[in-house]
Amino acid sequence: MKRHVFSTAAFSGAFIAAATFASPAVAQERYITIGTGGQTGVYYVVGQSVCRMVNRGSDEHNIRCNAPSTGGSVANVNGMKSGELDMGVVQSDVQYRAYHGESNFEEGAWEDMRAVFTMHGEPLTVVARADSGIEDISDFPGKRVNIGNPGSGQRNTMDVVMDAFGWDEDTFALASQLDAAEQAAALSDNNIDAMVYVVGHPNGSIQEATTTIDARLVSVTGEEIDGLIEEYPYYTRSVIPGGLYRGNDEDVETFGVAATFVSSTAVDEDIVYETVKAVFENFDRFKRLHPAFENLNEEDMISDGLTAPLHDGAARYYRERGWIE
Ligand code: GLU
Repeated sequence: MKRHVFSTAAFSGAFIAAATFASPAVAQERYITIGTGGQTGVYYVVGQSVCRMVNRGSDEHNIRCNAPSTGGSVANVNGMKSGELDMGVVQSDVQYRAYHGESNFEEGAWEDMRAVFTMHGEPLTVVARADSGIEDISDFPGKRVNIGNPGSGQRNTMDVVMDAFGWDEDTFALASQLDAAEQAAALSDNNIDAMVYVVGHPNGSIQEATTTIDARLVSVTGEEIDGLIEEYPYYTRSVIPGGLYRGNDEDVETFGVAATFVSSTAVDEDIVYETVKAVFENFDRFKRLHPAFENLNEEDMISDGLTAPLHDGAARYYRERGWIE
């Protein structure tokens, strides 16, 4: 009996020793969260794709990545600032404003923001119901327009556009603030006349809008827009090619920004290093994950649209590859 008790104790002692021995490995497992956007946009696919590449190598680096849907660029900046997110996808204009503390980041410049790489182009995309009478953004006054949820990048850009035209929310019959993923249904249900989305193409949201009803991508032009392109370094002229969506065979002129991938000084150099390494070491595979990634190339991705300094972990990898000094 005594012997039995003793051996049980020895057994549980061994078990505890094994558990203790195993715990350093468990503790080394690191989790990263990437902020994206609505599920029918492209940011969601960016986050999912980066995580897919990172998680392929989890056995080696012990990093596990997840990329939930969020309110968009501004929500991602705020999530990184509070430490809830480690990395995020952010419009290049939002990156600039957050880093410099402009627009709705007036509470202060976020100098700890770090650039990682740039992704696809994002034209400001206006989709209007064919029966709305909207042929250009200048037809917005008096219409029902979804100006976007406050955490989104399109809302941030729309605020600047509205300022340029001298509009405010009272200019419209309705200025709704629906999330990106809710816009297409609101357009088809005739609850709004137009939706605004700063987004890569093609994407699920605009596919949804143009297949369920007759809806048109309309141009975003005029001297107000010319003024914005002249004034701000991060705005460029942009064309959405015809033929991507049902009933929209013509090219549409607008202006746009770039989607950028950012992090913060609070995130370990090693984590960002492994993340960029996972993307660039599997780059062909990565580019096949969404048609908006097709034309990405390494050179532009590490130079265009980046306002914040490169994250040390990203710089280390780019230096190793000989892409930067
Ligand atoms: N540009 C949008 C934003 O910053 C998101 C676009 C997307 O999800 O692809 O909120």
